[in-house]
Amino acid sequence: MSRKHIIIGNWKMYKNMEETQTFINQFSKLIKGKDIKCDYGIAASFTNLPVLKLNQVNKLIMVAQNCHYEPEGAFTGEVAIKMLKDINVSHVVIGHSERRMYFNETNETINKKLHALFNANLIPVLCCGESDSEYEAKKTNDVIKKQISLALTGIKSQHVTKLVIAYEPIWAIGTGKTASAAEAQTVCKMIRDYIAELYDKNIAQKVRIQYGGSVKPENIKSFLEQSDIDGALVGGASLQAKSFLGLLV
Ligand code: PEP
Repeated sequence: MSRKHIIIGNWKMYKNMEETQTFINQFSKLIKGKDIKCDYGIAASFTNLPVLKLNQVNKLIMVAQNCHYEPEGAFTGEVAIKMLKDINVSHVVIGHSERRMYFNETNETINKKLHALFNANLIPVLCCGESDSEYEAKKTNDVIKKQISLALTGIKSQHVTKLVIAYEPIWAIGTGKTASAAEAQTVCKMIRDYIAELYDKNIAQKVRIQYGGSVKPENIKSFLEQSDIDGALVGGASLQAKSFLGLLV
């Protein structure tokens, strides 16, 4: 089954509004007249998302880096899903390893966020991945299966078909180290087989699975050639317009 590739730039806590505008100006010029076949988006900080909205770059998917699962309330410092919908956000990165590590994001809160997003017709980009020590101890499959089964608890099959999963080995994020394309393929296939076990094969075939971890224009093709890798979640190499365009192969 052919799935449309999806490339998402994760800008983390980088760029102010002016820098975002500069990126958009450069990217809009560079992409003019190009026939881009994949879906592509930018996960910008909450303050920069309105800059992306105002500029309405052709087909650029607006992605947020987090959300709260409650519709509104006394949750100082949090952002509600309806606030994101107001500015045309359609996808939200959930459970990035930096949020799991530094902000106590748990599989349980991730599950609540997935329910809330699907109920609001937004698409979660669910991140999963093992740490360096778990990788060395050959626990990758167990760790990821646990992350996925807890995140998807109670999620209906019609929603799962829309899900994007990002497999990001933590030891490869921002380190310059990448999993080999073959290694990434093995884990992404394991994830797809596991979704088939939890739901069924047809549903698993529809889920888009990205690889993330030091992906750049020079190595992205080797990942996208793999049969179970349907895109990439990219940090560092998405920050410059030329390099981001180089990822849209
Ligand atoms: C990420 O932020 O999800 C990521 C994969 O970062 P980098 O591409 O810089 O490793």
